[in-house]
Amino acid sequence: MPLEGALLATQAATAAQASPATPATPVSTHQVLNQAAPCSGYNAFTDDAVLRQAVAEHAPWTTANATQLGALAGDAQVQDMARLANEHGPQLRSHDRFGNRIDWVEFHPAWHQLMALAFASGVHSLAWTASEPSGHFARAVQSYLWNQVENGVGCPTGMAYAACAGFAGRPEFALWREKTLSTHYDARRLPLQQKTCAVIGYAMTEKQGGSDLRETQTTGDFIGTENGAQAYSLTGHKWFFSVPVSDGFYTLARTKSGVSCMFVPRILADGTANRVFIQRLKDKCGNRSNASSEVEFDRTWAMLVGEEGRGIREILSHAHLTRLDFAVGSAGLMRQALTLAISHASTRNGFGRRMADLPMQANVLADLALESEAATLSALRAARATDGIETSETERLLARVATPVTKFWNCQRATTFTYEALQVHGGNGFIMENPIARLYREAPLNSIWEGTTNMMSMDVLRALEREPGALEVFLGEVSGHGTMGAAHASFLARLKDDLSAASIDEGNARGLTTRMALALQASEMVRHSPQPVAQRFIDSRLGGRHGGVIGTLDAGADLKDIVSRATVSAQA
Ligand SMILES: Cc1cc2nc3c(=O)[nH]c(=O)nc-3n(C[C@H](O)[C@H](O)[C@H](O)COP(=O)(O)OP(=O)(O)OC[C@H]3O[C@@H](n4cnc5c(N)ncnc54)[C@H](O)[C@@H]3O)c2cc1C
Repeated sequence: MPLEGALLATQAATAAQASPATPATPVSTHQVLNQAAPCSGYNAFTDDAVLRQAVAEHAPWTTANATQLGALAGDAQVQDMARLANEHGPQLRSHDRFGNRIDWVEFHPAWHQLMALAFASGVHSLAWTASEPSGHFARAVQSYLWNQVENGVGCPTGMAYAACAGFAGRPEFALWREKTLSTHYDARRLPLQQKTCAVIGYAMTEKQGGSDLRETQTTGDFIGTENGAQAYSLTGHKWFFSVPVSDGFYTLARTKSGVSCMFVPRILADGTANRVFIQRLKDKCGNRSNASSEVEFDRTWAMLVGEEGRGIREILSHAHLTRLDFAVGSAGLMRQALTLAISHASTRNGFGRRMADLPMQANVLADLALESEAATLSALRAARATDGIETSETERLLARVATPVTKFWNCQRATTFTYEALQVHGGNGFIMENPIARLYREAPLNSIWEGTTNMMSMDVLRALEREPGALEVFLGEVSGHGTMGAAHASFLARLKDDLSAASIDEGNARGLTTRMALALQASEMVRHSPQPVAQRFIDSRLGGRHGGVIGTLDAGADLKDIVSRATVSAQA
């Protein structure tokens, strides 16, 4: 199997770097005491009660995939690869030593090892290759787990997932689709025909602004028809261009008919490099294992995707999947932060007790666990709705609304969440050696790319306005599993009134989307979570008793049960 092969190769490569089990001889000045235990040796799938139950209910056939990937998240050697890939980030090689432009990027071997593991696990492809139903849900599970391994690689896997939506049904892209679905990652710089697997990027954002793509300045001039493809020559730039060593990119260029979607192979069929010139790599706050660059196109060869002038519509049809991926990815990121926080607080003492048992810290951990469970369930609901897009109008409408709602909310909450999880670690959490620091720096990114928080709110309003029946489907979904208490019922009644208003002021879009997200989370918890857990979520988030700060639940003996439910086995 590809995953086993990739794992064996990576284990051999990192064995020398993994931390020794026995520390060196102690120094004479002090003993190292009361440092938290490393958080490894667990399975992020089998130890996750929420995820396990969701898979058992909706796609039991993916249990083996999820179990394998869950083991990677808890594997000390794989965790070390993530550290290495982030500490030794990508480097631009604009020229070779003879002065020829090569426009390439070099990575630490750990990056390629992680890419091989992710691709072997089908994190990028399972939705399209599954022979069983619920492929998007099953892939969401893989992505949720992968985001507990290493987030930088989550960018190329998410883009490959979306890319297949653009390749489908277009004969000129048949080979691209076939190679993109491959589980045999191939980092070589070769024409597509010679590769075992293709990696795909997206390049829309230009200097003048990424939210309003109608202002795209790059131009595309028609050259002719080549092997069934409409060929164009592009001139312009892209200000953000992640994974610049990808084999091909979707991009936007202005033609005589307006902004059009183009596809740019990195290496042309004859083996020559396409004219994609990397200006520099971005020095990023987080996501440091992954390369993001600025590029220029100068007579760059491209193929038209779809119709001229309909490029933004084409790209947005793929964006549904990348947005879903970041809703799921942020839920995974929060789950990893929770695992780390519980592990730390359970293996370090303070004031004569395990820190996890200190009343305020227990409140923080329980509150994080509630937040994580709600984020997971709502993202998975959006994934299940995506599975029904072709077969059910109700599910299509729900997917249309729930995807920007969950992208908005999960990505927004991830920043607050990782900050609190970091604080659980005290000063150790602020030091980059600690994986929680990496998550903290990563978290804000998901709210920016693939549509910012404001863009998601605007998209929710657009969906409600333009899709007849979307409002009714959403309201039916959030009330269809019943309510838990008067506060829940009155929250839904007010939401219904506000959403049914003749016109919604755009200035209220964030507030409204927030309440839609909470309503969706509550309904998923009513449906799937143990009653006391769902009740805690609803009383705190919908009932107005939560201070808006994590750890402000009403104190109670049940908080420790909530934390136990979220504890992975290595920490017991
Ligand atoms: C690490 C990283 C990697 C990236 N990789 C890629 C990539 O590979 N490909 C790619 O195409 N892009 C990429 N991006 C770019 C990203 O998609 C854009 O940054 C994002 O879409 C926002 O565009 P902008 O930065 O130009 O901000 P702007 O569009 O200038 O927006 C700035 C702020 O104004 C708000 N705003 C804008 N319009 C409105 C409005 N009408 N109403 C209310 N608020 C508004 C936005 O929400 C945002 O808060 C990457 C970004 C980062 C940080």
